[in-house]
Amino acid sequence: MGEIRKMAVAPAIQAGGSLFTPEQLSIIGAVTGPDAKIEMTSFKQLYLEVPAERYEAIKEEFERGGLEVYPTGFATKSLIACQFCKGAEEAGLETARRINQAIAGIETPTPIKIGYAGCALGTSEPLLKDIGIVKMRETFDIYVGGEPKGLKASLAKLLVSGLQEEALIPILTKIINHYKQHAKGKEKFSKFVDRMSLERLKKLAS
Ligand code: SF4
Repeated sequence: MGEIRKMAVAPAIQAGGSLFTPEQLSIIGAVTGPDAKIEMTSFKQLYLEVPAERYEAIKEEFERGGLEVYPTGFATKSLIACQFCKGAEEAGLETARRINQAIAGIETPTPIKIGYAGCALGTSEPLLKDIGIVKMRETFDIYVGGEPKGLKASLAKLLVSGLQEEALIPILTKIINHYKQHAKGKEKFSKFVDRMSLERLKKLAS
């Protein structure tokens, strides 16, 4: 067998949550073949192993079927969004899609998970992500540094609140770039937030 490359696949961000259509599952099965290893990750992406020389062709085929393809490993993951149960407009579906387009797949020192919740009920658990965005009626809050693993698990802390939609992507980009530039080796994002201090990151975001 030739060189194998990993690929992360997810359905589009949509009302109802992470929904695959039967056709999309058929495409995945047909393209990868009967012996493929297909892993469901904890961050709502399927990891597939595909022949490296067919990576681009497979990516195009998946995208034609409405699937989204992202890098695996040390990168920002696709946005882990809620199910938008309060309605696409009230819960900010288009905002979530725009955020995902802007921030998913950026190479980072460690994998970064970014959560989005369309209301303060936060059923997508945004405070357990490296970065969490919560829609609060007409504005948005951003939280940073959630750590869901280990005995020292902790919730993300409020970085900035009352944001208009247009402020979100510039701030998220700034935080991610700051982490890329100043992380010590493979420093976890939550440790980076602690080391930098919330106050300094607040200044960066303001
Ligand atoms: S976070 Fe709010 S809008 Fe989104 S699925 Fe949960 S309850 Fe519904």
